[in-house]
Amino acid sequence: MTEGIAGALSAFDTRDAPSMDGLRACVHCGICLPQCPTYRVLGEEMDSPRGRVYLIRAAAEGRIDLTPTMARHLDLCLGCRACETACPSGVPFGQLLEATRGQLERRGVTSSERDPGLLRFLLGVFPHPGRLAPMLHGLRAYQWSGMQALVRGLGLLAPFKKLQAMEALLPPLPPPTAAVPRWAPARGQMKRGRAGVLLGCAQRFFYPDVNADTVRLLAAAGYDVVVPQAQECCGALHLHAGHLDEFRAMARRLIPAFDDVDVVVVNAAGCGSALKEYGHWLPDDGADRFARRVRDISEVLVGCELAFRPLHETVTYHDACHLAHGQRVRAEPRELLRRVPGLTLVELPDGELCCGSAGVYNLLEPELAGELGRLKAARVAETGARIVAAGNPGCLMQIRQHCRAQGLAVDVVHPVTLLARALEEP
Ligand code: SF4
Ligand code: SF4
Repeated sequence: MTEGIAGALSAFDTRDAPSMDGLRACVHCGICLPQCPTYRVLGEEMDSPRGRVYLIRAAAEGRIDLTPTMARHLDLCLGCRACETACPSGVPFGQLLEATRGQLERRGVTSSERDPGLLRFLLGVFPHPGRLAPMLHGLRAYQWSGMQALVRGLGLLAPFKKLQAMEALLPPLPPPTAAVPRWAPARGQMKRGRAGVLLGCAQRFFYPDVNADTVRLLAAAGYDVVVPQAQECCGALHLHAGHLDEFRAMARRLIPAFDDVDVVVVNAAGCGSALKEYGHWLPDDGADRFARRVRDISEVLVGCELAFRPLHETVTYHDACHLAHGQRVRAEPRELLRRVPGLTLVELPDGELCCGSAGVYNLLEPELAGELGRLKAARVAETGARIVAAGNPGCLMQIRQHCRAQGLAVDVVHPVTLLARALEEP
């Protein structure tokens, strides 16, 4: 125990300690429980939001120490923040979770079930384009040579569960030459300002067409668009894992890359949510001014006049957690899709339930993530839609994999892909 919050004994030190006000806001009502994916699957109080808040508060008040058992209950949390949406008391669960994970990480408290080497590896590769790009060359060769089909057909990875989970998620990789324009001038009469597009780490390598479509749609909507070449990772994965020092260093490097734009446009929910919280985690760095300029692509386009030609498709929409719960963006993507003539939007039952992707959660916890992925695919099947739209690359990979595993002939795409397909150029 250390002298912690307000001088009282606490298992936390004062550096990025979870907020006592946030913890005290919980009145233990339990309204959040049915909305929590881990509680729905595991049925354990300590794997519910209320249970986790109880654990964090007990540690904050020095009644328990930071232990591997506590770490395990927090490991299993997806960080989906469905509990925040449900909570009538405004418990800031995401910030409490990230702060607690930060303390556990700095103090080296881990559960025996979690492989800290795998998390370090993922955090060391995914957010670094210079490291990810060479790996993807090898993976392209693996896919294009037919080796992937052979490995899957023979089930060669079955004894290696985590490796198998990673391999199954791999979408068809685009060619390395798939390019996103560095800039595009505004088109049409209405000039709306200068938009800077965040490329995102997963998005730029796995779905570069989504970034290219984002640029095209913004230009058609009247924005001068730039894609800052100096941009690095936004740090979202590090933030959500509680690696707060690295997250802050990444955020400080990213902010200046967007100095000269009116709006920072993001098409990956996890990145957008992290960017909008820069002001909370870096209060003295002008980060709040930056965060106020951040918008999801759907928030920007919904205020613009765009002409669409008909697209005769039945589409269902999955709410990416960090868009719906993290950014409260739900209506905008739906409204945009409804503007496309001929497109029928069917609501997805449990549309706001996490698909199990949650950043790198599906790589770290493949069993629980798999349960949620199977549930999501079953809900997709109920809609009869031919296309699933979701505004986050991790969700696209996870839902695609589980729909494919259930034999569903559906396309899983970002909403901007559909909007760009239907766009009438001005
Ligand atoms: S963030 Fe998601 S998984 Fe974690 S406690 Fe809240 S609802 Fe449950
Ligand atoms: S809904 Fe909010 S106040 Fe109620 S138990 Fe959950 S976190 Fe606590």
